[in-house]
Amino acid sequence: MAANLWRTFSATIWIITLVSSSRTRIYPPNEVTLLDTRTVPGELKWAASPSEGGWEEVSIMDEKNIPIRTYQVCNVLEPNQNNWLRTDWIPRSGAQRVYVEVKFTLRDCNSLPGVTGTCKETFNLYYHESNEDRESYIKESSFIKVDTVAADESFTQVDVGDRIMKLNTEVRDVKVTTRKGFYLAFQDVGACIALVSVRVFYKTCPLTIRNLATFPDTVTGADTSSLVEVRGSCVNQSEEREEPKMYCGADGEWLVPIGGCLCNPGYEEKGGACKACPAGFYKAKSSDAGCTKCPPHSHSLREGATVCDCHSGFFRADTDPPSMACTQPPSAPQQLISVVNETSVVLEWAPPRRLGGRSDTSYSVECLICQTSSHSQLCLPCGSDVLFSPSQTGLKATRVVVSELRAHTHYTFIVHARNGVSQASGAGAAQSVSVSITTNQAAPSPVTSIQATDVTRHSLSLLWQQPDRPNGVILEYEVKFYEKDQRERSYRIMRTFSRSVDVTGLNPLTVYVFHVRARTAAGYGEFSAPFEFSTNSDPFPLIGEGVNSAFLLLSVSGVGILLLISAAVFIISRRRSKYSKTKQDSEEEKHLNPGVKIYVDPFTYEDPDQAIHEFAKEIDVSSIHIEKVIGMGEFGEVCSGRLRVQGKREIYVAIKSLKAGYSDKQRRDFLSEASIMGQFDHPNIIRLEGVVTRCKPLMIITEYMENGSLDAFLRKHDGQFTVIQLVGMLRGIASGMKYLSDMSYVHRDLAARNILVNSNLVCKVSDFGLSRVLEDDPEAAYTTRATGTYLSPGGKIPIRWTAPEAIAYRKFTTASDVWSYGIVMWEVVSYGERPYWDMNNQDVIKAIEEGYRLPAPMDCPVVLHQLMLDCWERERADRPTFSQILNMLDKLIRNPGTLRRTGGDSHSVCVSVVPEVCVSEWSVCEWLQSIGLERYRDTLAAAGYTSLDSLLALTHQEMDRLGIITPSHQDILIASVQQEMLSQMQHMQCSMVPV
Ligand code: AMP
Repeated sequence: MAANLWRTFSATIWIITLVSSSRTRIYPPNEVTLLDTRTVPGELKWAASPSEGGWEEVSIMDEKNIPIRTYQVCNVLEPNQNNWLRTDWIPRSGAQRVYVEVKFTLRDCNSLPGVTGTCKETFNLYYHESNEDRESYIKESSFIKVDTVAADESFTQVDVGDRIMKLNTEVRDVKVTTRKGFYLAFQDVGACIALVSVRVFYKTCPLTIRNLATFPDTVTGADTSSLVEVRGSCVNQSEEREEPKMYCGADGEWLVPIGGCLCNPGYEEKGGACKACPAGFYKAKSSDAGCTKCPPHSHSLREGATVCDCHSGFFRADTDPPSMACTQPPSAPQQLISVVNETSVVLEWAPPRRLGGRSDTSYSVECLICQTSSHSQLCLPCGSDVLFSPSQTGLKATRVVVSELRAHTHYTFIVHARNGVSQASGAGAAQSVSVSITTNQAAPSPVTSIQATDVTRHSLSLLWQQPDRPNGVILEYEVKFYEKDQRERSYRIMRTFSRSVDVTGLNPLTVYVFHVRARTAAGYGEFSAPFEFSTNSDPFPLIGEGVNSAFLLLSVSGVGILLLISAAVFIISRRRSKYSKTKQDSEEEKHLNPGVKIYVDPFTYEDPDQAIHEFAKEIDVSSIHIEKVIGMGEFGEVCSGRLRVQGKREIYVAIKSLKAGYSDKQRRDFLSEASIMGQFDHPNIIRLEGVVTRCKPLMIITEYMENGSLDAFLRKHDGQFTVIQLVGMLRGIASGMKYLSDMSYVHRDLAARNILVNSNLVCKVSDFGLSRVLEDDPEAAYTTRATGTYLSPGGKIPIRWTAPEAIAYRKFTTASDVWSYGIVMWEVVSYGERPYWDMNNQDVIKAIEEGYRLPAPMDCPVVLHQLMLDCWERERADRPTFSQILNMLDKLIRNPGTLRRTGGDSHSVCVSVVPEVCVSEWSVCEWLQSIGLERYRDTLAAAGYTSLDSLLALTHQEMDRLGIITPSHQDILIASVQQEMLSQMQHMQCSMVPV
């Protein structure tokens, strides 16, 4: 019955095969077929159970006449059917989930007459995993059911005669992961069914390129929901940007791409691959950008360029990006100019004409020190001590200041222009410009170290090195020192040729600060930094613990002897000068007293204008009203006028102006007087009101002194003042001079002509043109001995007013000012007489050297003349100080009786003395003593000259005969005796001003 039925259906099945595919089949790309019954040549010979009467293999022909294998069963009339058909062993080939696509036809039971109750319309699908193809029979229990498969709704309908046949396609999937392969089985339970084809396949995600990464063909996961993570690999000429990853889904689709790759330098992405840049283009970095055209002045000849090569003559700096155009080095700097200032030079230049297409031009300055001989010039690099500001290399600005050069030296400076490609281009001298200069004279550099070589209680011996840069021949060194405690309020200065000096007269156990500076023809250099040294404490430092008694005895006796000697020296010196001890003390005081204002030499200022503005007030010229010319000064007219400063009452002033056509030096000298005057503030010093420097003519404005200069004033009022009035004038001058000496100011030109007198007869010291700081210079003996009226070098010296040591070796000190003060006293008391009358300067110098001193002027109180003589002590240390002079004058003013005795008196009062007594009582001996020529006492006495009037007969010839041959002594004797007699005659007439 089954066979009949089968035969009945077979033609139908053949017809069905016409619509199916041929053996060469095309599958979807993500499916890998493990079994397809339509592509198997020959019989399938699958196992069937029962082997007879169940599933039967039937060959039929497809539309191309190719036989295909089918299995059919149709036992619909018999109940309890259990017919198994099992495939051959199918290796799974790495698949984890396989798909079974079954195409079948199924007769619906209704279409079969008489089969009701036994006919079925489904079959069951089973699988069984196994490693080997061993099983020849079907062991039903080892199979696991996949599904019961029924005919689908969507089957294909084929009209076969009066029936409609339906080709069903059903797909089931099974996880197969435990063995290498598996079997499939079909169980029929009573249906009329034909398995037209069975295809078994698994799914893959096919090879793909995503974000320049290749992802391989990947078998999908075991579960329907599983994702397989896959790492991609970068395509050729690319590199990972970020790890490329994707997921392979169960249906064979790639999902969620992550990361990716970038084309290498020289390559760009095209169609998912990296292609080389064409010629003329480049790509410098791995990026997703495309290739770029070569920048200006560059090219690329080959494909795949990562950078373009510069055209010939163009360059690229290491730091230049490949996208930057190729550039050139700059041309030379232009218009190099130099301005030399002593040992510095300012170099300035203009930028190069061509900058080479860059903006990083910088400059460097090469310094060469050059020596020129008659044939050639030898230049060597400058030393490292030359300073360049802001720097020597890498200059961005077109200016540099070169300093610390040697004085008077030839230099060549080469300014190089460079940019980022100078080195690459190998460019050197072509981009430079040079200038040669010669430095000026310059002051020496500071002394950098001072050593104390010998230290005692009162002295220090110092030694120092020549400055590093003497900048010329060092003419002398100046040593400035002061007690550390005093700071620079009070200091002393010494000068020396050598690099050492012995500083004496110091206090024991005292720290002193020393500064040394050198002087060349170009002037003084800077002072050194401070160096501190201390004097010793003990003159006999060996006396102390551990010294044996014999030594102690010797030491003690030595001390005793020393003390005796000191005492003797002390007494002798006291006898020689009643001033010296106190004078030294007061000088010490002056230098080392704290709080004493010290005069500042304006010549120490490099800029005279700075000094003037520090010490003098600038006056608006409109506030000055000039009235008349009152005198002639060294620099021009002196006028009187009025000054009205806002907020103050109008005052009378003297106006000194600087005549037109002055030199720089004259301007400096003219203003220096104001700079000096402006530092003083004392009732007996002429007061500076201010200066006019901002318009011409330059002016110095001082207080107006109605009576003009003292010498002219006295001459005009000869004999008209009381001695107290005269002493009052002298006191004022001494007070002014004390003030100046306290400030360490040495006047150098103290004379009655330089004293001004106001309407109240107040005398004020003026004329500060010859000023210098107080010097204590042991080396100054070399200074040229002065010989003229007002003598050089170093300025004119007013011989008649000047101390012998100042004339001989320019030793100007307060003590030499004291000498001058003595002369002023003489001028005052003699009402403006010219000191030493008509004697010439030479004779004056000689006479002083030989001990002659001006005699007391007529009616001069003895004490005053004695004070004059004290001022004219040969040893300057023996002269009184201004403070002592002031004390003395004050005493005299308080005790006018002491002024009564004059040189014309005997030893009593003047007024009542008869002439004869005067003459007889003023012995020749005393008189000779008073003029310093007592040496001729015996000679004159022996020759019968026993009275002053007898001396009136003395002639030059007579003196020659007597052996008084010194011409100056002859002059003095004749002049003094005449003066004395004149004075006495006047005295006889009792014209002496009553006191
Ligand atoms: P001098 O430039 O200081 O030598 O001054 C020249 C002259 O001008 C002096 O001799 C005085 O006659 C006169 N003289 C200078 N300054 C003043 C002043 N402040 N008051 C009055 N006359 C003065």
